[in-house]
Amino acid sequence: MCDNMIQLNNKCEMCMDCPLGKTRTNLVFGVGKPNADIMFIGEGPGEQEDLKGEPFVGKAGILLDKLLNCVHFDRHKNIYIANIVKCRPPHNRDPLDDEQQACMHWLEDQINIVSPKIIVCLGRIAAQKLIDKDIRITKDHGKIYNINGVAMMPVLHPAALLRNENLLPGTFEDFLKLRELYDEMGLAK
Ligand code: SF4
Repeated sequence: MCDNMIQLNNKCEMCMDCPLGKTRTNLVFGVGKPNADIMFIGEGPGEQEDLKGEPFVGKAGILLDKLLNCVHFDRHKNIYIANIVKCRPPHNRDPLDDEQQACMHWLEDQINIVSPKIIVCLGRIAAQKLIDKDIRITKDHGKIYNINGVAMMPVLHPAALLRNENLLPGTFEDFLKLRELYDEMGLAK
């Protein structure tokens, strides 16, 4: 991690700005290349993530890694992954609006440091928070939105794919489209 991201992570470790701070085992700050051209953002940590302190490391994370690897992305080499909230909501419930709001400034600082050209929103909550509150993820996944010069794409959350494997082919198409966009933008180095 670059110095700025390490400093931000260290500051975030002390955060108790919302009630989720009291029940976390570990802060789940983010993982990956801190100056990646592409950033993946989910909603919040689950049980395995809370235990390990890293985003997307449970079954959904393994599936995400497989999808990423299929299109030659790797969480340790060319992407950065983070969540809207950095502490696990109890029983994996959706993060509340107040919790999302309290935590957003950490994500905004991460986005400023990474300065990505493409942001992929993993699931409805991240897509509605970062792209458009009216997004319907089942209909709008795979579309590309230009927001302040950043290409943003909503995709289905990998946990949804685990619940319904019929959704996998469509998501694979989205990842292929993403790779195409990445290459077209000249970001492959
Ligand atoms: S979820 Fe975010 S705002 Fe709430 S305590 Fe954790 S780091 Fe702080």
